[in-house]
Amino acid sequence: MLAYMHIPFCDSKCPYCAFNSYTNQSKLKQTYMQRLIEQLRFELEKFNVQKGEINSLFIGGGTPSTIPASWYAPLFEMLSPYLSKEAELTSEANPHSATQAWIAGMKELGINRLSFGVQSFNTEKLQFLGRNHSPKMAEEAIINAHHLGIQNISLDLMYGTALDTPHLLREDLKYARMLPINHLSAYALTLEEETPFYTQKNVINSEEALARTFVQEIIDAGFPQYEISNFGSYESYHNKGYWEHQDYLGLGAGAVGFLHHQRFYPAKKVEDYLQNPCYQAIEELSIEELHVEKIFLGLRSCVGIDRTILNAKEEENVALLLQENKLTCKNNRLYNKDYFLSDELALFITR
Ligand code: SF4
Repeated sequence: MLAYMHIPFCDSKCPYCAFNSYTNQSKLKQTYMQRLIEQLRFELEKFNVQKGEINSLFIGGGTPSTIPASWYAPLFEMLSPYLSKEAELTSEANPHSATQAWIAGMKELGINRLSFGVQSFNTEKLQFLGRNHSPKMAEEAIINAHHLGIQNISLDLMYGTALDTPHLLREDLKYARMLPINHLSAYALTLEEETPFYTQKNVINSEEALARTFVQEIIDAGFPQYEISNFGSYESYHNKGYWEHQDYLGLGAGAVGFLHHQRFYPAKKVEDYLQNPCYQAIEELSIEELHVEKIFLGLRSCVGIDRTILNAKEEENVALLLQENKLTCKNNRLYNKDYFLSDELALFITR
């Protein structure tokens, strides 16, 4: 079982970002952390979580490093009996707010993996993306995390911005690989509705060749690809858990939980969440919907698809893809050879 905790606060809002995050609600932070405890208590009971059953906690956002480490302590106190010994405990962090004291405090609580929102090591690109840190700040935060004994460190890079050229991306990667990281996520810039970038012209470069070259260079730099956007010698347990359809608790405003065939959606707006942290909208998923999701998720990642779940028509389509060398089959599991084609292949199989 997995747990996800959402921190919907940021120091500043990036113009491309559609995540549930706010910059003007700092005064609500402390109450928010208290409400998270209420929801956690409720979820542990609802999911009937047993001692040692949670294998991964992921604190995401927003920006988890905008909350002082000590404010997480009561949550960890409540959660710790339910965490397995080897649990992967990840927090996202931004170079701007992940100070040495914050990292040390989170390590003290048990965090053993940090994922830094870096996006680029190019000053101009960082400004273009509205990021509030410099390349040096990102470098220092990651080196601090390493010196403070965080075992697993990841960073996010963004590609597909109007400023990107093969040279710029190569430089970003060169900088990244000099740092003590064992995981890297690379996301293409997408234009999300209701963000300032959405209405702007010339912010994006969606050339497939640029993306393909960058991905190949990441792999060649020693970060094997295990999902469409994730690379590294260390494969995140949490990420894989989602793709394997494991159950997960979803804590916080705008988080999502999943149990068997239901998804749970707590209130998205912080004020609404504070009013009632245990309220959730419920989405019932049909067997058919879960089946299609398994095919989509399996093709986007190294998890693959259990061939025995396929119906006769899907099996026919798979046979064609195997013939065309688009898929491989090992121990009755199907694997995608080209993650850029994930959605296309999934649509072909389920058509
Ligand atoms: S720091 Fe992350 S979550 Fe916050 S606005 Fe920027 S991209 Fe969005």
